[in-house]
Amino acid sequence: MESLKRTRIVEILGEKMAITAGTKVNLKGWVRTKRGNKSVAFIALNDGSIIHNIQIVVDLSVFDEQTMKLITTGSCISVNGVLVESPGQGQAFEVQASEIEVYGTADAETYPLQKKGHTLEFLREIAHLRPRTNTFGAVLRIRHAMSFAVHKFFNDRGFYYLHTPIITGSDAEGAGAMFRVTTLDAKNPPLTPSGEVDFTNDFFGKPTNLTVSGQLEGELGALALSNVYTFGPTFRAEKSYTPRHLAEFWMIEPEMAFYDINDNMDLAEEFLKYLVNYALDNCMADLEFLNKMYDNELIERLRFVTGNAFQRLDYTEAIDILMASGQKFEYPVDWGTDLQSEHERYMVEKHFKKPVILTNYPKEIKAFYMKQNDDNRTVRAMDVLFPRIGEIIGGSQREENLEKLTNRINELGIPEKDMWWYIDTRRFGTAPHSGFGLGFERLILFVTGMANIRDVIPFPRTTQNADF
Ligand code: ATP
Ligand code: MN
Repeated sequence: MESLKRTRIVEILGEKMAITAGTKVNLKGWVRTKRGNKSVAFIALNDGSIIHNIQIVVDLSVFDEQTMKLITTGSCISVNGVLVESPGQGQAFEVQASEIEVYGTADAETYPLQKKGHTLEFLREIAHLRPRTNTFGAVLRIRHAMSFAVHKFFNDRGFYYLHTPIITGSDAEGAGAMFRVTTLDAKNPPLTPSGEVDFTNDFFGKPTNLTVSGQLEGELGALALSNVYTFGPTFRAEKSYTPRHLAEFWMIEPEMAFYDINDNMDLAEEFLKYLVNYALDNCMADLEFLNKMYDNELIERLRFVTGNAFQRLDYTEAIDILMASGQKFEYPVDWGTDLQSEHERYMVEKHFKKPVILTNYPKEIKAFYMKQNDDNRTVRAMDVLFPRIGEIIGGSQREENLEKLTNRINELGIPEKDMWWYIDTRRFGTAPHSGFGLGFERLILFVTGMANIRDVIPFPRTTQNADF
């Protein structure tokens, strides 16, 4: 086969249309379908660079039957040919094949993606192959674009990317149940005289876990570099079977010195609008596909979010609204209860009909590090609530006062000896500061319109599921 530099399909069918008719090209990719008649075959080829397939036209009088038989749905081929304007409807160009090499066949009897229209549940069982579907191609490209946009947003604003540890020796954050990290023999661990597991012999000489959040270390960075953010995996050993929780998910946690709660809300709103706008500007072909196949209001909803101010109000006002709503909730509400996603979605979808930022939550339902208000009952927390998702961001202004912070730590029975390094930052050069955490997969759920969080991460980890 004549050796030509490979062209990606996006270079032909993407918005830039860098290549013009008459050019000889080499394309490599996976066959989605092959159809035709005795004299001509039409191959729909996809290489993952764009949602669209390109049509390869094969004149069967020039190609031997043996090769053509190997080209079935799922097989991988390399094609040389001339790019021509397509007479058919639907796309601008097709390729008239002159040479084809088959890299890998895919037996029609056993290839699982033989037909279109598999359920998402079925595709979860073949997570090793589902990136080859239109749906997962679209989701994964959007996921990439959103990661890139996260870094761009912060880099453009002078934030530094801080790598916080994945293995942590502190279990005080309290954001969720943790996964133990150990090299001890599970069958026969060393024991202390009183019969407890003796972790002094473990790898780190103490109990360690996978992190549930990079925030506490993020604060250490902010109190030196002013503005930092983390973007890494976090782990929560919660057995929740909701479509919004994973055991392993990615979180973005900016932390800013000299920001109060209002600055924090402004940043969160600007950040979310930036990300959604970035998707609208850069992922339209994929969004149009998802809009058509899964969620007819997707693009409209994305535009709405970028175009309207988020509603800001106090937790207390939200409780009043919920109690006066006359709605029957599965979990009843009154002042002091933690809001469930049904309450959050009522506020966003029914009452205000736009994203909501709730502030000043009861201190009892929020973490120890949140700045205490003078009323002694609420803290300067903020949750951003989104349509279809509920909570997408959780954040707060942090308690910077040494005495107030240690009092709260003691009140909650958190061992001060585990937190000395965190408390030290309030002892030496403390500063007002704030931050928040955006669950990356919740963002991707919103932007793609997918309904289940297992379908917006390549390899979901949930209870009883870590196959590959
Ligand atoms: P929720 O109440 O929805 O369980 P949370 O209050 O435990 O969330 P935070 O500790 O505030 O969540 O974490 C910050 C963000 O991380 C959340 O706003 C959400 O977007 C995301 N998040 C939290 N838990 C999960 C999870 N198990 N899977 C995916 N994303 C999550
Ligand atoms: Mn939260």
